[in-house]
Amino acid sequence: MSGDARVRAARNVIVSTWERRLDPMADLATEAAQALEDAGLLRSPQAAESDGGQKPEGYVVALPWARLMDSEDLGAFLDGLASAAIANTSPEEALAEVEAVCGTWRVIAEAQHAHNTALGPDVALALSADDLPEPYACRHCDISERGHAQRWTPDAGSHAWTPPSDKQIVARMLARRAAREGER
Ligand SMILES: [Zn+2]
Repeated sequence: MSGDARVRAARNVIVSTWERRLDPMADLATEAAQALEDAGLLRSPQAAESDGGQKPEGYVVALPWARLMDSEDLGAFLDGLASAAIANTSPEEALAEVEAVCGTWRVIAEAQHAHNTALGPDVALALSADDLPEPYACRHCDISERGHAQRWTPDAGSHAWTPPSDKQIVARMLARRAAREGER
């Protein structure tokens, strides 16, 4: 298979994986990687070459998903990457921080890209961004840390502000951005 044909085949696998998925917050990267593996598209370049394919390029793009971002997001991602990399910690801890930043932004880049390509311009968004919870609002009740104090909800009972999960943060960021775009 030629390089172009492999790229087209890989794209088709990812698109059909995306269309089949039921949970929009599931890990697309993991699902796509599994689908590519199942389709035999993740074989080593050597195996592909012995297949009669073109000689692989020596350079492999390390962060292909980063190219999905607009310049605003890319700037924020690179800022996060830079501060993680130069954090005053051990190299091992800095690497873990860098990987965490990449993981978070990968989810954002891929979800935002899928959102941009999946929804037409006619999608109506009823809520304004100001009506939606801040990304770092409480895990239990969507109230910001400032002004939370002690709250009560049926599920969590009486609680202080609790850090949200990574998925909550990402979902809230995407929802607010989608709302902002709807207001333009
Ligand atoms: Zn709360």
